[in-house]
Order: sequence, then structure tokens, then C-alpha cells
Amino acid sequence: MADVSIYWFRDDLRLSDLPGLQAAADRGTVIPVYILDEKLGEQWRLGSASRWWLHNSLTALRHELSAQGSELILRSGDAASTLAAIAEETGATAVYCSRHYQPWSETLERSVKAAVSGVGADLKRYPGTLLHEPEDVATGGGKPFKVFTPFWRACNRRPNPSAPCPPPGLAALEKSVASEELDDWCLTPTAPNWAFGWNDLWSPGETGAHQALTRFLRDHVQDYGGGRDIPSEPNTSKLSPYLRFGNISPRQVWHAAQHAKAEHPETADSIDKFLSELGWREFCYHLLFHFPHMPDEAFNPKFSFFPWGKDEERLRAWQTGKTGYPIVDAGMRELWQTGFMHNRVRMVVASFLTKHCLLNWREGEAWFWDCLVDADLASNACSWQWVGGSGADASPYFRIFNPIAQGEKFDKSGGYTRRWVPELAGLPDKYLHKPWEAPEDILAEAGVSLGDSYPRPIVDHKTAREEALSAYATLKDIA
Ligand SMILES: Cc1cc2nc3c(=O)[nH]c(=O)nc-3n(C[C@H](O)[C@H](O)[C@H](O)COP(=O)(O)OP(=O)(O)OC[C@H]3O[C@@H](n4cnc5c(N)ncnc54)[C@H](O)[C@@H]3O)c2cc1C
Repeated sequence: MADVSIYWFRDDLRLSDLPGLQAAADRGTVIPVYILDEKLGEQWRLGSASRWWLHNSLTALRHELSAQGSELILRSGDAASTLAAIAEETGATAVYCSRHYQPWSETLERSVKAAVSGVGADLKRYPGTLLHEPEDVATGGGKPFKVFTPFWRACNRRPNPSAPCPPPGLAALEKSVASEELDDWCLTPTAPNWAFGWNDLWSPGETGAHQALTRFLRDHVQDYGGGRDIPSEPNTSKLSPYLRFGNISPRQVWHAAQHAKAEHPETADSIDKFLSELGWREFCYHLLFHFPHMPDEAFNPKFSFFPWGKDEERLRAWQTGKTGYPIVDAGMRELWQTGFMHNRVRMVVASFLTKHCLLNWREGEAWFWDCLVDADLASNACSWQWVGGSGADASPYFRIFNPIAQGEKFDKSGGYTRRWVPELAGLPDKYLHKPWEAPEDILAEAGVSLGDSYPRPIVDHKTAREEALSAYATLKDIA
């Protein structure tokens, strides 16, 4: 085969706006390959919900490729030796991929480069995951930004991200290349199938991503600025898992949002807010690139001395949505049942774990990692450290969310809490977020029996707040 290249798909499971794939296709025949390396990232190997998303994204990608007469080759094992073996088998003289930013990515890319060069192929790495490469955004002193607002201002001073590229035409492979079976990878749950019903909630893959973006920009973006904190309303894009797996690129989202703003100038403020959230994703990736220990260690080293507690019972109550605080339980159950949780509620449950329960943010990070369909090393670590007080540009530790007030403010009409904590659905709004204050007759009328049908609070808000502040005070004398 002449001018054969491999395209090594990673977290970029799409065909359009993939500069590396475009470059490979311009050169000649492309062999699309995905490699499942179960050892990569060690404890940060894919969590359960992410495996479900991966399976479905690969299925979608396979269909999109076969519609063009091409074929997705699946292999498991270590990427360097697998890619070298495929290059040798097929005579491919180049391997193309998108750049990654995880702590292990540089080493992996270097080992792939060395392995494929041993069989006469070049590794060619392209951007495709971010709006701006980490090296291109720095403070006046050439250092990485640690504060979001100046970071995003600096991003916005740069030239606009270039226009997304269309999907390239891909020719059929001339020679068959051995592939494993996707089902043999057992990425989806079976016994029990806890993801039962997720196909009605999500459409992993490129088509689903663009449908979600179109729907959001057409029907909801006008309410984003004012309504993005209301978890019962569909005001946010729910694009995070699609971005995480590269079913869509941030550049595509950025350009579609700019187009919507030009067509409907009255939505400009909402769209700018939405783009700044995309900016937070960028910020997290840049931080992870510059500070690769962020998923495992407190960004602010003082917090390595924080007196975190150990309490399996509390942790389990939090994980299973049985803390006795309705908004916290609603969030944790939404997560368990859908693989997703609204951003406002993520902040509330994270604050509850780290401040009311005094449990290490890493416990929450690990649980989210396993349960979220959008589990993302950069955004998850950065957000947990932000809420826990140890992160870059973090919310100060002493800002402790009151879970009752958060529920009353952001789920005033109770739609979100009643949906995910149905055993409290019959309570009047006045008591929904503090059922322990409801008189006996009201509880009885609503069919609520505290300590039986719904737990009593596992901690007292006021006491927990004071304990959290005392724990925080122990850091004051540490330089
Ligand atoms: C404790 C905690 C853990 C989190 N873990 C993750 C995670 O693992 N993966 C993840 O993608 N996001 C994470 N987030 C950020 C945020 O909650 C989600 O990105 C957001 O809820 C996704 O919903 P959406 O797509 O509707 O967002 P929208 O509001 O529509 O925002 C558009 C896009 O911007 C990005 N974004 C929005 N908010 C943030 C943010 N605060 N930080 C980084 N990127 C953001 C996402 O890619 C999102 O899809 C976490 C937040 C908290 C508080």
C-alpha cells in the first residue's frame, strides 16, 4: 500500500475538526485505530461510567467510519508496541494523533515515537483538544496563570480559534487489518446493568454531540446567564461528556456559539458566560499540564497538613445519597442514576463532603471519577480542589455552603429534589430542604418517617460548620 498512515484515536472520538486526521487523509490511505490500554494512568484508568461512554462512542465512530467504507481497528495493550506492530504489518510510514495533556501523555507520546520509528514510521502530533495550547497562554512574566479571570482575558486577547475543519474523505482499506471485537472489551455493565436506560438520556458520539449543541443554542442559551444555577431547568448544555471524549471539539462549540451570538445579539451576555465556562475547562487543562500532580496532591501545599477525618459510614451515606440533607442526596442520586450531576449541585455536595463531613477531597474526586460520564482528570481535580479550598484560584475554605440555604435558593420550587428524592415529594416547600423541622402531622401527611423512610441528618449543620472552621484554623500557622 502506498502512503499509508495510521490515525491513532484517543480522547478525540470524532471525524470532523480533527486536524491530525485531516493531515493523515491528505497524505493517502488512513488506518483508523483505537487502543485500549487498561494499565495507562494507573488509578486514573477509566471509571465505570466513562467505560460506558467509551463503548458507545466507539460504536458511533465505527458506524461513521463504515459509512465511508473505512473501518475502525480495535486493539488492546500498550500503545507503543501495538502501533509499531500495526505499522509493520501494514507498511504505514506515519502515525497521526491529537496531543494529550495528562501527566503521563508526554512520556507515552515519546515511547510511541521511539517504537514506531523503529519500524520506519513517524509520529505526528496535532492539536485538537483545546482552544489554546498551554505554551501559548502565559503571564507577562512567562509563567502559567493561577487565577482564572486574567487567564481567560489573556485567552480572549489571542487570535480567535481557527475555523473547524470538515470531516475528511477516508478511503476503504486495501488490505484487511486484524481487529478485536468491541463487545469482548466488556466496557458496559451487565450484572447488574446499572446503565439501563442511559441510552434514553445520552447519545454518545459525534452526531449526538452536535444535536446537543444545536438544541442548547436554539432552545436554552437565552436562559443560561440567569438560569444556569437552577438544577431543575434544562438551561445548561450537557456537553461535558461529549467534550471529554472528543465527540465534539471546543473549537466547534466556540464557533457555533459565536455564530448564535451574531444571529441573536440579545443572547450575547448568556453566550459570553457560556464561553467563559468553556474557558474554565481550558484553565483546568492548562493547570494540569503545568502542575501534573494536581489530581493527587493539594495544589496549595498547606492543605497536605489538613486534619481530614476517616469515616466510612459518612462516606457511604454521602455516596449513596443518604445524608439526610435533601439537596445533597438529590445530587448524589442524580449522579448514580444518570452519570451526571448539575454543576451547582456538584459544588454543594463537594462542599458537604469536605466541610460538613471533613473527608478528604480525594475521596470525592475518586467517587466522581467512577460515576461521572464526563469524568475528566483536569476538570475533576481542579474543581474538587476549588471547592475544597486547596486549589488554584480556589473558593476560600471558610466559605461553607449551607445545604439548606442552597436548596432553598436554587431549588426553591423543589422540582429537582422531589425528582431525585421521591420519598420527600409530599412535603410542602417550606420543609422540603429541612424535613427535620417539619411538625409530626405534616411529616405523617407526606408519608415521611424520619430515620425510617428518609434519614435524619448525619451531621448537624451548625456544629459541622464550627468543626470545619476549627480544622481550617489549624493551617493558619503553617507558612
Ligand atoms: C466537584 C466538581 C467536580 C467536577 N468534575 C468535572 C468533571 O469530571 N468533568 C467535567 O467536565 N466537569 C466537571 N466539573 C465542572 C462542571 O460541573 C461540569 O463541567 C458541568 O456541570 C457540565 O455541565 P454542562 O455541560 O451542562 O456545562 P455548561 O454550563 O453548559 O458548560 C459548558 C462546558 O464548559 C465546561 N465547564 C463548565 N463548567 C466548568 C467548570 N466549573 N470547570 C471546568 N469546565 C467547566 C464543560 O466542558 C461544559 O460542558 C466539576 C465540578 C465540580 C464542582
